[in-house]
Amino acid sequence: KKWVYAFEEGRADMKNLLGGKGANLAEMTYIGLPVPPGVIITTEACNQFYLENRQFPPGMEEQVREKIKVLETKTGKALGNAENPLLVSVRSGAPISMPGMMDTVLNLGLNDQTVEGLAAASGDRRFALDCYRRFLNMFGDVVLGIEHAKFERALEAQKNYANVKFDSQLTAEDWQAVVEEYKKIINRETGSPFTQDPMEQLFKAIYAVFNSWNTDRAIVYRKVNKIPEDLGTAVNIQAMAFGNLGNDCGTGVAFTRNPSTGVNELYGEYLINAQGEDVVAGIRTPQPIATLKDEMPEVYKQFVETCNLLEKHYRNMQDIEFTIERGKLFILQTRNGKRTAQAAIKVAVDMVNEGLITKEEAITRVEPAHLDHLLHRRIDPNAELKIIAKGLPASPGAAGGKVVFEADEAEKMGQEGQKVVLVRTETTPDDIHGIVQAQGILTSRGGMTSHAAVVARGMGKPCVCGCEAIRIDYEKEEFTVNNLTIKKGDIISIDGATGQVILGDVPMIDPELSSEFQHLLEWADGIRKLGVRANADNPVDAAIAREFGAEGIGLTRTEHMFMAQDRLPIVQDMILASSDAERDQALAKLLPMQEEDFYGILKAMESLPVTIRLLDPPLHEFLPNAEELVVEITRLRLTGGDSKELTEKEDLLRKVRALSEFNPMLGHRGCRLGITFPSVYAMQARAIFQAVVRLIKEGYKVIPEVEIPLVIDVNELSFLRRMVDQVAEAVMQETGTQFEYTVGTMIEVPRAALLADEIAGVADFFSFGTNDLTQTTLGFSRDDAEGKFLQEYVGKKLLAENPFVVLDRKGVGKLMEMTVKLGRSVKPELLIGICGEHGGEPSSIEFCHLTALNYVSCSPFRVPIARLAAAQAKV
Ligand code: ADP
Ligand code: MG
Ligand code: MG
Repeated sequence: KKWVYAFEEGRADMKNLLGGKGANLAEMTYIGLPVPPGVIITTEACNQFYLENRQFPPGMEEQVREKIKVLETKTGKALGNAENPLLVSVRSGAPISMPGMMDTVLNLGLNDQTVEGLAAASGDRRFALDCYRRFLNMFGDVVLGIEHAKFERALEAQKNYANVKFDSQLTAEDWQAVVEEYKKIINRETGSPFTQDPMEQLFKAIYAVFNSWNTDRAIVYRKVNKIPEDLGTAVNIQAMAFGNLGNDCGTGVAFTRNPSTGVNELYGEYLINAQGEDVVAGIRTPQPIATLKDEMPEVYKQFVETCNLLEKHYRNMQDIEFTIERGKLFILQTRNGKRTAQAAIKVAVDMVNEGLITKEEAITRVEPAHLDHLLHRRIDPNAELKIIAKGLPASPGAAGGKVVFEADEAEKMGQEGQKVVLVRTETTPDDIHGIVQAQGILTSRGGMTSHAAVVARGMGKPCVCGCEAIRIDYEKEEFTVNNLTIKKGDIISIDGATGQVILGDVPMIDPELSSEFQHLLEWADGIRKLGVRANADNPVDAAIAREFGAEGIGLTRTEHMFMAQDRLPIVQDMILASSDAERDQALAKLLPMQEEDFYGILKAMESLPVTIRLLDPPLHEFLPNAEELVVEITRLRLTGGDSKELTEKEDLLRKVRALSEFNPMLGHRGCRLGITFPSVYAMQARAIFQAVVRLIKEGYKVIPEVEIPLVIDVNELSFLRRMVDQVAEAVMQETGTQFEYTVGTMIEVPRAALLADEIAGVADFFSFGTNDLTQTTLGFSRDDAEGKFLQEYVGKKLLAENPFVVLDRKGVGKLMEMTVKLGRSVKPELLIGICGEHGGEPSSIEFCHLTALNYVSCSPFRVPIARLAAAQAKV
């Protein structure tokens, strides 16, 4: 079996086999870019390694040796050669990029002899020793598992001894001393001397890279990003290019466009006379890429050309690693750059306008789930802010919360539902679990391509980094800035778009769509087949929904209108009425109020359909809580309070108890209310139709759809429909105005799905209430499941996803397909939509498209997400 490929043997489309890094190195080699030569051990070898209990698969070692020979011929150097040693990097690289999550070793091949050869060949002894100490540190850390801090301390000690502040001030002799100390550390920590055999070094490094697929942080990262566990990592063995060979050398990272805003400008950083991780690790604060233009104009020009070429070649924004060795440019990595939602939109739209990609492609370039962040609130530009510091605007969006300094603590508090801002000097991949749970990240060191910045942008989390004004004291759990001390638990806010750090909470405003976003959504509208409506209970939400492009309202919940402060007492009177006459009195008071509600919503959505659901929840939801009543009654009794009040409360308690249910979710609710209290539904129908008549008289075109919830049988619907029709008839008579309306039902109980053909006979439309349909199909009460056992189900992979978030296609979806088929067998043109929370979730939207629903309905702020997801489902 072929386990090892030369760069020349691969191409970009071999990512699964060669990993993303390797496939792109191969591709860049193929298109003639200056890439140091190398070879790739496949992901298959990694997977085989795990199957065989962490042993190299048979034949792999042989193939590595052979390919290294070829590499030696190509470079004219040899591994372990004392005069002209070949040095390589051993780099991880999974099929899906997991930046910084796995391990890499640089300068491999050095030992006490070859370091002298390198010194002689380069004419720079200090450089050779710098490489050696880097190698010892990385090998010690990555391969031998020695704490990085141990090396760090030895280096600090040498700096103190030499009385210098920066690494760059250390001499060759200093590095020699550091190297000796590092070797001692390795000997002490592992019980054996540092291995001098480069081949042995190489295989140990390969072993370590394979192992790094399964470190805790890599596993967490895959979980968060939903990357499969069985991909494995490739190993890239590549000849070194040296960025630390003097002041005509350097290393850097650049994005071909601004990954934060999407603006078409080169965006990156570099360090002169530095190697590899120095930029990312935040050891020195790097220089912006623009200054390279002055420092090395030739290299800069070549780099810009390379960036353009790579962008055209991949037809996507690239994230490029490069190194300059004595004025010569080397490209060490390229990949599609991670970007914020804002940048994703701008880049996609710009690339369409530049003729680089099609509209369809542009649609697929934006992750609908990430749009959430753009559709969220941001800091009110007119607000008075107490700005305490300013850092780099690394990932836009505003966030506020309690300051915490440790990732573990951020994770814990975040899981408890607290809002926290993680504050650290810099973050490392080991902090990933804390970053996931934090609202935002603030670091005091590191640039725009530092770990914190990259990870935050990828997750759509606000981040301010390199905020050097703040001094963090981990021991005391506080940071100071100027004369201010912020302790753990104090509230701060950050604005990742401006880099501002603000004391306390900040006022926020609602989002608006950028013109690029509008463009993209218009393209999406041109592509999608699925309609998009919104769930809205009041005119304000309806107006927002319309602004965001909703084509109607798929669900108006009338119960929210009943909950309003001024109405609740009347609603309670209605519920507690002891006679029909009493009930009618209360209903008469509610009628004009409901009419006003419907008037507002129908007007806001004029000329678009509005589905209005008649009362759905169990009545006790409108009544006072029994336990609280008991407390009050007891208090009145003990204090000998007002006896009239006492009797009233006792009466009330009796009624509340009479209405209480063991399983309210399966109890007296939905159309069951309409059947037992027809006057309530009749009042609501009348309110709708009176509003309709008023609007028609004012010249508006309105499209009301009356919806009956929780139906299980066609008889229920026939019964209630007759009543609604009678009310409509009466209103037409009274007002002398004709109007059109439809009557339909929700499908939210399996029996309704099973009998959809019968029900379709009397329904003008169906709307899937997938929240209830999921509860009733799985037999899970949502409120109990989510807190108690669902997490375990998902964790143990018994269910792939939380079915209340992502539609359960297999079960609930099967009922939906059946409903559509049965319903349309009776009425081919039957209008069918979905109004559960799934209506705003991209994967569920795709399913709705595939099932030929007419529309999805979601919360107003998710309407743009649904428009995009619906188009993606079609593409
Ligand atoms: P990661 O996947 O964490 O980015 P990489 O394998 O890309 O790790 O390596 C980390 C750094 O080491 C990169 O910034 C790259 O510039 C540097 N590096 C890797 N291989 C070489 C090489 N052959 N020559 C010079 N620098 C290298
Ligand atoms: Mg890299
Ligand atoms: Mg329901």
